[in-house]
Amino acid sequence: MSTSPDPRTTTASGADVRVRFCPSPTGLPHVGMVRTALYNWAYARHTGGKLVFRIEDTDAARDSEESYRQLVDALTWLKIDWDEGVEVGGPHAPYRQSERKPIYAEVLQKLIDAGVVYESYSNAEEIDARNEAAGRAKQLGYDNYDRDLTDEQKAAFRAEGREPAYRLRVPDGDFTYVDLIRGEVTFPAGSFPDFVIVRAGGHALYTFTNPVDDALMGITHVIRGEDLMPSTARQLALYGALIDAGVTDFVPRFGHMPLVLGETGNKKLSKRDPQADLFLQRDKGFIHEGLLNYLALLGWSIGPDRDIFSLEEFTAAFDIADVNPNPARFDQKKAESINGDHIRRIDVADFTERSVAYMTAAGVWSEPTPEQLALFAKATPLVHERVQLLGEVPGMLSFLFTDAVTYEADAMKGLPADAPMVLTACVGALEVVAEADFDAAHIQDALAAALVDELGLKPRVAYGPPRVAITGRRVSPPLFESMELLGKAETLRRLDALANELTQTV
Ligand code: GLU
Repeated sequence: MSTSPDPRTTTASGADVRVRFCPSPTGLPHVGMVRTALYNWAYARHTGGKLVFRIEDTDAARDSEESYRQLVDALTWLKIDWDEGVEVGGPHAPYRQSERKPIYAEVLQKLIDAGVVYESYSNAEEIDARNEAAGRAKQLGYDNYDRDLTDEQKAAFRAEGREPAYRLRVPDGDFTYVDLIRGEVTFPAGSFPDFVIVRAGGHALYTFTNPVDDALMGITHVIRGEDLMPSTARQLALYGALIDAGVTDFVPRFGHMPLVLGETGNKKLSKRDPQADLFLQRDKGFIHEGLLNYLALLGWSIGPDRDIFSLEEFTAAFDIADVNPNPARFDQKKAESINGDHIRRIDVADFTERSVAYMTAAGVWSEPTPEQLALFAKATPLVHERVQLLGEVPGMLSFLFTDAVTYEADAMKGLPADAPMVLTACVGALEVVAEADFDAAHIQDALAAALVDELGLKPRVAYGPPRVAITGRRVSPPLFESMELLGKAETLRRLDALANELTQTV
């Protein structure tokens, strides 16, 4: 006999899609979790369905309010919006499992009344001892001993002061379902014994609360990581019981997304891996469009030879059936390059606005003054096309907001021996440019005439010393524009300052 879901009870096609994102609030938000949220969100948006955001905080020892707040922050920053759930409410509130205990008690009672769940008093030592006496391997675990306890036996246990756990009566037979991503999956009969859904003392376990909430919230598609696939067998068993008890009348469809591997080897990207840390990636300067585009590619593709797409294009094209079951590898370089493409796609005013916080975080200013913001807005067009991460902006533009340029070591090492002479020539050439004409074009003409035409230097050699004088760096925004932004007096002062510094150290 097969206890695979009766087709009668599976989600009717065409029914409104209801998906959910239901993390446990432990630790920092990580990129694997975001991909789960993203695929669920995209599927809801693609189908015109609903995304439910539920918090699975039944483990008081590991869950934290801080982690909950970070999850909400993460989705908010990513602009992954949800239709029902924490913060926004909805018809199935509350959406935090820690607030749903009375609901679990009620469902448990229905399952007991339907005879599909029973009281179990066996403790671990007793189970081990019985297995040993019966010559049964210890790993097989529980032996379904309490299935048919009489009322007298139960009363006797209670009289000893024992409290029951509650176990699901698992039907015999294989459990088969059709995974949305992997096709037909069968868990053979006898893969697991009657399992505990509510511990002695009343603590409801994940294997219970997760499907119960999915059932009560009308979830039609469970889209989650491959690591959760083994728990699907027990959940199918529980669904059978929930249907028998009249709690629900259908089994959702399940789809298990591919693992995300770390950059090297065949190990899963670990939560502790810095690349997995969502906020660290944000701090580096990912914009949400870029990061989501990259994460979308971890198991899905919009078409051959195409990596860059907008979120609208993504939700329009995304179907869970197209997700590739094979593991995907996290590639930081590729993620950053895709982010760079998305940075170039936003307009420069938006780029400027988003970059301000990175300047602040880098300590360029504590609170920018209106003058600083005005100068910053003039400077950002110079680097908009040149960065992959917003976190690169301070390094490129902080020279505009300081009196004391820090010369980077590699920039100093790269200077030619005649750098002081080149700098002096720059000063000579620029001194005669009128204040009112001090713009990139005039600066370029003056420097080219002095350095390239008169001194016969190659541009690559000629512009190295002034670049270091102005920005402190070997690589910088365009030099003439940078000088224009600094103004004539400051430009001359910096050229002199490096010339002096070099002659003093020689
Ligand atoms: N709370 C579970 C987790 O964070 C969710 C499992 C599921 O999506 O069914 O792993």
